[in-house]
Amino acid sequence: MKEENCIFCKIANGEIPSAALYEDDEFRVILDVNPATKGHALILPKNHFKNLYEIDDQTASKVLPLAKKMAANITEKLQCDGFNIIQNNNELAGQTVFHFHVHLIPRYHNDNQNFVMMQNKMTPKQLDAVRDEIVGETVSQ
Ligand code: 5GP
Ligand code: ZN
Repeated sequence: MKEENCIFCKIANGEIPSAALYEDDEFRVILDVNPATKGHALILPKNHFKNLYEIDDQTASKVLPLAKKMAANITEKLQCDGFNIIQNNNELAGQTVFHFHVHLIPRYHNDNQNFVMMQNKMTPKQLDAVRDEIVGETVSQ
C-alpha cells in the first residue's frame, strides 16, 4: 500500500535517503528535516495512510509502543528535559504531509518552543451538552 507521489512513502521505504533512527518491517523513524528542537523525529509507517482517520488498527496499535521506546531512547541519549508527542490530521490542524506520521519532540529548558493550547472556560452544563453531542444522552457517568 504505497502512494505514487508521496514523499513519506519514499522515505519510509528507503527510496529517498533520510537520517533514520530506527527501522523494522512496518516503520521507519527519521529525523525531521526542519527540527523544532534537537532530536525532533517522525514515526512513519511504511504503508500509506493519509492520517489517523485512515490508519488501520493493526498499524495504529504499534505506534504508541514505538513512540514510547523512541522517546525513552532519545531522552537518554540527548538528555532532554521533557517530551511532546504531536500528531496532526488535516490541513486545518497543521498537517502538511498527508501520510500518517507522529512527531517526537524532545524538550529542553530554554528551547524557545511553545506548544501551549489556548483554552476556554466551560460550565459543567456546557460540558454535559458537548458530551451528549459525542456519546448521546443515554450514557451515565
Ligand atoms: P506535519 O505538519 O504534516 O504534521 O509535519 C510534516 C513534517 O515533515 C514537518 O515537520 C516537516 O519539517 C517534515 N518534513 C517534510 N518533508 C520532509 C522530508 O523530505 N524529510 C524529512 N526528514 N522531514 C520532512
Ligand atoms: Zn505515503
